[in-house]
Order: sequence, then C-alpha cells, then structure tokens
Amino acid sequence: MFAFIFLVTMVDKKIWFDILATLYFYRVMQKAIHPTYYPEARVTCACGSVFTTGSTLPEIRIELCSLCHPFYTGKQKFVDTARRVEKFEERNKKVADASAVRKGKKAKKVALVAKKTAKKAAEQTAPAL
Ligand SMILES: [Zn+2]
Repeated sequence: MFAFIFLVTMVDKKIWFDILATLYFYRVMQKAIHPTYYPEARVTCACGSVFTTGSTLPEIRIELCSLCHPFYTGKQKFVDTARRVEKFEERNKKVADASAVRKGKKAKKVALVAKKTAKKAAEQTAPAL
C-alpha cells in the first residue's frame, strides 16, 4: 500500500525526470568534467625529500616541505628564489669595501688636529722674527 502511494506520488510530481537527470549527471557528466586523479602522486622537495600524496598532477615539485620548513626545523632559513639575499650581501660588501678605503670624518678630523698641533709646535720652536 505504501509502495503504491509512493509510486503514485512520484508519477504525479514527475520526479522521474529529476531522478534520471541526476543519474545522467553522475554517470556521464561527472566523468567528462572531473580531471584524472593520481592517488600516488610523487612530490619532490627542493631539500631532496620525496613523498607521495593524492593529486590531479602526477608529479609535483615544491620548495618547502615539513622536513625543511623553519616552523618544523626551528632553524632560520631564507627561501630566496629571486636571489635577493645574495644581492643584498653583494651590496653590503661593496659598501664595506668602499668605506674601508675611504677615510671617515673622524680620521680626517684627527689628521687635521695633528697637522695643526705640528704647525703650532713648529711655530713655537722656530725663532720669532
Ligand atoms: Zn623540503
């Protein structure tokens, strides 16, 4: 009886079209839309560690993993893809080299004072005319 009522209701509401459409979607359309899934995708890190995971890509290359990320290692690390740290160090080295060759204000002042004192001493020791 219940089954009969159920069937009558289904026919009455024309729900069969919806059911068929849903079935069509899951049987046909989903296969057409979904990309291929690789359950054993190979992930290679820049640090050398390799592990597998599920992905739509068969192979993935990454820069950081849980083995080399500073959060897990507790060590400081620069992820420098644009060579920024190297450039900064080069610039710093250039400045240091230039300042090593160049005399600073202090050195100049010391030299000036020494020159003046020498001149004074020479004046004092020289016979006044
Ligand atoms: Zn890594």
